[in-house]
Amino acid sequence: MNEHKVIVIGAGLSGLAAATTLVDAGFASVTVLEAGPHVGGRTRTSTAGDTTIDDGATLAYPQHRHVLGLADRFGVDMFESGTQGRFQYLFDGTARSLTAGRIPNTRLLTAPLLRPVVRGALRLIERWLPMSADDVVQLLEAVQELDQLAASVPAQRPWSAPQAQTLDQRTVQSWVDDAVRPGPARHLLASLFGYFPPTTSLLFALHVFNTWGGIGALLASQGGVLRFADGAQALPLALAAALGDRVILNSPVTAIEQSANRVSVHAGGTTYDADHVIVAVGPAAYRGIEFRPALSPQRIRLQKAWQPVHGRKVNVVYDKPFWRADNLSGSALTDREAAPGVLDASPPDGSHGVLACYGTDDTTAVQDPESRKAAVLTTFADLFGAQALEPLHYSEKRWIYEPFHFGCEGGLSVGALTAARETLKEPVGRLHWAGVETADEWLGFMDGAVQAGQRAASEVIRS
Ligand SMILES: Cc1cc2nc3c(=O)[nH]c(=O)nc-3n(C[C@H](O)[C@H](O)[C@H](O)COP(=O)(O)OP(=O)(O)OC[C@H]3O[C@@H](n4cnc5c(N)ncnc54)[C@H](O)[C@@H]3O)c2cc1C
Repeated sequence: MNEHKVIVIGAGLSGLAAATTLVDAGFASVTVLEAGPHVGGRTRTSTAGDTTIDDGATLAYPQHRHVLGLADRFGVDMFESGTQGRFQYLFDGTARSLTAGRIPNTRLLTAPLLRPVVRGALRLIERWLPMSADDVVQLLEAVQELDQLAASVPAQRPWSAPQAQTLDQRTVQSWVDDAVRPGPARHLLASLFGYFPPTTSLLFALHVFNTWGGIGALLASQGGVLRFADGAQALPLALAAALGDRVILNSPVTAIEQSANRVSVHAGGTTYDADHVIVAVGPAAYRGIEFRPALSPQRIRLQKAWQPVHGRKVNVVYDKPFWRADNLSGSALTDREAAPGVLDASPPDGSHGVLACYGTDDTTAVQDPESRKAAVLTTFADLFGAQALEPLHYSEKRWIYEPFHFGCEGGLSVGALTAARETLKEPVGRLHWAGVETADEWLGFMDGAVQAGQRAASEVIRS
């Protein structure tokens, strides 16, 4: 039994995974302080009518070993989703279908010797492609260049890459604009960067791609997507149930005071003493916490450089998944701001149909709810047919308005990584940092949140 007291701040997947790891390691005193009234953070499951919907995270990939490992251990059911049928791409008013399945190996397709053959073969099938053969080749070359650039960025020390300064001064938007001409190829390439605000540093984006195993690897693995049978919040709820009264809700942490051998955490009028603290909230939430003594100037600069994406998640419930009858998977990419990415989020038994989409919700987004809804339904109709205009329920979660959540994903602005020469995960005395933004694997995904929590817990266990 380890007598050290540990406080974990935040009961998202990351904080709960950290606490679970500490309890597994025999720590007698582990307390999770959560600001809000429920656990799960950016995983949130609710109902529309009698259908379960995910207001936050939904998808996992088969490579997400940390999430899959916990789901397996805690008996949380997952199932394969959206793998049957064709993928839709809507650009400039025209929807085209692509066969779902593995996207070919980009390295092979763009190998110099094979390029003329590939270009010729693509020309033969050009009328079935969502863009010209030349655009396809340009896009594949850009993806390959991205992978090569990412390979030059060391995983643990991105600021020491050979061209670090140049890459860190470049925004992802400017790189995309230079890489391919305007049109569908540029739109698809930009969608790879959909996790970041356009002003994110290219160096940071490459660092994130590395945590995914590279863009080419991500594209090649789109075949088997997984979802949680009872919604994504089922996993944090299972972790919290096992942690029992170690999890304390409605306790926003406002200050953390560190001395040579103790840490005091102030939350909701109570002070908790600990030997170690794991901060498992996103960087934008750090600003609600006063750190005494103050954090180092480079750490503060890094935290301030974090730019969150304000995401919006829409779920539309239908009486059945009608698109499947047309051999459509329900997955789509579009050039419409209302619904840039769409997926089939129907329950496992297909008793109802659910189409979900993500969008960003910054100040330029359409502010009138009825116009937003009309734009989403019209986009679905253009993709899947007029039945999309007749939903049973329409539900929208705008994360910008969620207390204690300051965005979905995000990115570091230009110059921050090379100036700080550290990432957000470096411990500060007895403070350890979890949260998906500190992940070494799958940064931005639920899997990264779990990995970061387990890594922070292992730092405490070793110390
Ligand atoms: C709309 C949307 C769609 C997404 N889709 C996917 C997807 O399909 N697949 C995928 O893998 N990932 C997806 N994600 C990302 C995924 O949800 C996150 O990466 C992951 O859930 C982050 O977990 P976390 O524990 O690091 O942070 P969070 O879930 O943000 O948890 C942090 C917790 O800290 C609490 N907190 C904040 N401040 C304080 C404080 N001062 N004191 C105490 N507690 C505090 C918050 O209330 C919150 O509960 C999506 C996210 C969103 C929003």
